[in-house]
Amino acid sequence: MSELMCDSLWRASAPKGPELSPLTEDLEVDVVIIGGGFTGLSTALHLAKVGKKVVVVEAKEIGFGGSGRNVGLANAGVWLEPNQLDAALGREAGGALYDMLGKGPDYVYGLIEQYQIECEPVRKGTLHAGVGKQGLAQLQRRYQQMAERGSPVKLLTASEAQQRIGSKSFNSALFDPRAGTIQPMGYARGLAHAALKEGAQLFDQSPVVGIEKLGSRWQICVANAKVMADQVVLAANAYADFFLKPQERKFVPISYSQMATKPLSASELERILPGKEGLWDTCMVMSSFRLDNQGRLIFGGMGNTGTMHTDWAKQRLKDLYPFLSKVEFEYFWSGKIAYSDDHLPHCQVLDQGLFSVSGYSGRGICTGTLMGKELAELLAGQRSQTTFPMDTLGEISMREMKRVFYEVSAHTYHYGQRTHVLG
Ligand SMILES: Cc1cc2nc3c(=O)[nH]c(=O)nc-3n(C[C@H](O)[C@H](O)[C@H](O)COP(=O)(O)OP(=O)(O)OC[C@H]3O[C@@H](n4cnc5c(N)ncnc54)[C@H](O)[C@@H]3O)c2cc1C
Repeated sequence: MSELMCDSLWRASAPKGPELSPLTEDLEVDVVIIGGGFTGLSTALHLAKVGKKVVVVEAKEIGFGGSGRNVGLANAGVWLEPNQLDAALGREAGGALYDMLGKGPDYVYGLIEQYQIECEPVRKGTLHAGVGKQGLAQLQRRYQQMAERGSPVKLLTASEAQQRIGSKSFNSALFDPRAGTIQPMGYARGLAHAALKEGAQLFDQSPVVGIEKLGSRWQICVANAKVMADQVVLAANAYADFFLKPQERKFVPISYSQMATKPLSASELERILPGKEGLWDTCMVMSSFRLDNQGRLIFGGMGNTGTMHTDWAKQRLKDLYPFLSKVEFEYFWSGKIAYSDDHLPHCQVLDQGLFSVSGYSGRGICTGTLMGKELAELLAGQRSQTTFPMDTLGEISMREMKRVFYEVSAHTYHYGQRTHVLG
């Protein structure tokens, strides 16, 4: 039996990131960015390209947060259905955000090409797979709204979906050919290389412990050094616990866990997602799966319930693919997703020169990259506002109760499915 590594497959299999060191000397820059994930790195890359003096300060390592832990679905659009987006922002602003994020995968795969980022880019589309009557109804709604807006999506029938996925467990699927999969840690590390190449400075193992306004400038402090800057970007997203007290957080952190099998056999790979799309389902306690370049199957689900999660995932995979003789996982890891109250990403201006980005609600690869690009243009004075909402995130009522509710729901769901199948 292979040993289960409690570490992310992505961290283990991505090409090396740049050699960085902690920040130990005082600096004066135009912009300081706190957090070395997609958002912070994309902001730094785009600012450095227009000649700004920019520094990224990361508490742990590049990609330590959601960026290095995610499923790797490079999706177009936000979590909300298009009509819900219009209802939240108004037709004009909702439409602009929808159109911009619809081109998100083009932009991300373009950057990967431009900077030769080694991150297993596969652009074969994604499948949002329907489960049950409600799942089918949701996909029919989404399809209609997306088709009305000219998106090139296709609603697959039960037999088309089952053939594409290689499993009889789904009654439909919404195929989006614009999207694809990447190795997310590879993408984060590649963005770091690209930002350095453009002239940004990056430091790791340097948790920011203080932010203070001094006159019209900002001072941020790490253990042994300070950075003075005109502008600060807080790009710590769901990992902002270092400097935000729980009551100041305007998001609910929700866990999502993933497991990776050993590389599958050639005959198994012919039958599981043979078209190499990435997939997530319509269940309230969502699951996802995809393959990597080595032919590993990466399976994920909401919550972080340790061995119960792996037991559930093994059983679920056997349900999905009964021909899999033995399911063994080699890697197990989890991450935190920042759910905002309105499920929308926000670019907030907290004070003059102090920006905070958050609330991607599980859609951060294209969103974070484009947020970084627009934020850089805003900070460089090339635009006066972003396509993303710039109002302050709403207070989340009963935040801790909601977090516990999601965890308990995931727990109960996984336990129920596990005992149902095992019992
Ligand atoms: C399990 C999981 C699956 C997901 N799947 C997908 C998916 O398939 N597709 C998709 O598009 N999105 C997905 N997402 C969402 C996506 O990963 C995130 O939205 C995105 O990574 C956020 O990027 P970020 O740069 O804003 O934040 P993060 O990547 O979370 O980076 C924040 C960084 O800030 C650092 N930090 C925190 N405090 C400090 C401090 N005081 N000083 C310095 N640094 C600090 C952290 O160490 C961290 O590295 C998923 C998220 C998770 C967790």
